[in-house]
Amino acid sequence: MTQGTALDLVAAQNDPAGLVAAAQAAGGTVELTDTEGGLDPWTTAVWLAARTERVRIGLPGPVAAASTEMREKAYESLDLLAGPRLASRREGIEGIDYDGVPASLADVAIAPGDPGYRARKSTYMRGGSPGLVLRPRTPAEVADALAFASRHRHLPLGLRSGGHGVSGRSTNRGGLVIDLGAMNDVEVIDEDRRLVRVGPGATWKQVNVVLDKYDWAIGSGDYGGVGVGGLATAGGIGFLSREHGLTIDALRAVELVLPDGSMIRASAEENQELFWGVRGAGANLGVATAFEFEAAETGEVGWAQLALVSPDLEQTLKQYGEVARTAPRDTTVFFLTGPPQQGQSVVQMYGLVDSADPDTIIERLSPFAATGLLARQQVVVTRYADVMAQAADVGPGGHHGRGEPVARSGFLPVLTDEFARDVVELLDSGQVYFFQLRHMGGAIADTAPDATAFAHRTPEFQVTALGGDQDALNRVWGRLAHHFDGLYLSFETDLRPERLHDAFPPATLSRLRALKRRYDPSNLLRDNFNIDPEVEK
Ligand SMILES: Cc1cc2nc3c(=O)[nH]c(=O)nc-3n(C[C@H](O)[C@H](O)[C@H](O)COP(=O)(O)OP(=O)(O)OC[C@H]3O[C@@H](n4cnc5c(N)ncnc54)[C@H](O)[C@@H]3O)c2cc1C
Repeated sequence: MTQGTALDLVAAQNDPAGLVAAAQAAGGTVELTDTEGGLDPWTTAVWLAARTERVRIGLPGPVAAASTEMREKAYESLDLLAGPRLASRREGIEGIDYDGVPASLADVAIAPGDPGYRARKSTYMRGGSPGLVLRPRTPAEVADALAFASRHRHLPLGLRSGGHGVSGRSTNRGGLVIDLGAMNDVEVIDEDRRLVRVGPGATWKQVNVVLDKYDWAIGSGDYGGVGVGGLATAGGIGFLSREHGLTIDALRAVELVLPDGSMIRASAEENQELFWGVRGAGANLGVATAFEFEAAETGEVGWAQLALVSPDLEQTLKQYGEVARTAPRDTTVFFLTGPPQQGQSVVQMYGLVDSADPDTIIERLSPFAATGLLARQQVVVTRYADVMAQAADVGPGGHHGRGEPVARSGFLPVLTDEFARDVVELLDSGQVYFFQLRHMGGAIADTAPDATAFAHRTPEFQVTALGGDQDALNRVWGRLAHHFDGLYLSFETDLRPERLHDAFPPATLSRLRALKRRYDPSNLLRDNFNIDPEVEK
């Protein structure tokens, strides 16, 4: 067998023209191999045959039976290579009443084989292949989508706003997705009260671009690409939380479409109990279609990215814990590391000092920088909006996450010496490739634990570990369990029912169950840490 030049079918996804040029430049035979995440070799062969004259094409051996997944890959590949020239070739999935899609949504609904399916099927972290993506533009269309979903209870139902969900339930395989991406308006509605109305499909980057013109900001998380819908119904622990509270603490009202299709507004004045529940457990209660936030006044801030080398991670963690615990509210520094390499750990510390004064910024950051050997630092005076703007724009091509994210989460009341020691063991296990501490404290605790469904107000840190295998991660994470008091659902992928009890203390969970019985008695919204209305406790 002659060995030709192998073409890179992963890189070719972004550069179809480059693929043709590479094939021509190679001369002789080019080899196309089926590579995880790459273009389908058979489709690519057709393409190359059409675009070149003399190139010889080497293909993998014949495949006995073409699976749905293979066909899907072939369509996608041709869609990418040929550009928007493919006629719709919808591939129905059994059990979905495609002909019954509500008229209001029919022109924007997307199914496998439709142009644009590839851009909507996966999320930031997870690959998916839903059977139908419904894309409402108004609350009335959300109601239509929910009515359609209630006739398809045998299928998974994902709610999607910005598509950054870590638990991965905003897409699925073969089910329905209600995608709120088109509802992404950001509008200042009351300048005196700094009130801003935001659609669930907006990203925090988009929100803060608008607010920046007023010298305002709404604190979110550490990444501007995250969507409003998922974060503002769960919590929102970010760079401004120690100063202004969680994102949900800035929420003044929310509008939802309930599973029965009715529209409801909740605030401190109306439907107060629902307003309580949406701030921490919103995804179980309704589809949020608009949020009204009170923005905070924010000028220039100090933004820091420090890279440290630590020969003694246990010591670095202890010192970081102490510095973070005693930092003023204007200072928030997150901690990120992975497995040690040759006995040393590389630690990234990144965060914000809400001050434009260089001396103050240096004074606040120096103790963090001294917790290891400072290898690299970047500290700039900038705008909060610019910190959020570091997230890449997604564009019409959509997200292309692959596989299943695997993550565990915990709230750490205090970073003890024993915890630092156990983290070193966790990272030595080889089961965790990403370990992060989100700096909490400060204004988060100004709100009482029972004032919202987010009850964990007093921990000093939120801890996240990402791994490659859920069971293996659960095993090593379990050894740390005694350090934690509860967990943050936004960074959890263990879907066992016990996790619900970790996320919500008994009194919170029983209030949420009462709300679930009232607003979603048939349990339509069940696919993301379900609060089952039938369960007693
Ligand atoms: C890179 C990255 C960084 C992150 N950083 C932070 C951080 O610093 N702080 C923090 O607190 N979190 C952070 N997160 C977690 C993030 O807040 C959650 O994943 C959040 O759910 C993402 O919102 P989304 O709209 O983009 O997600 P989606 O994937 O669209 O939705 C996630 C889930 O939210 C629910 N949901 C979505 N839209 C609605 C709606 N309109 N109404 C009701 N429920 C809805 C659904 O259950 C859905 O499964 C981060 C996530 C990523 C991927």
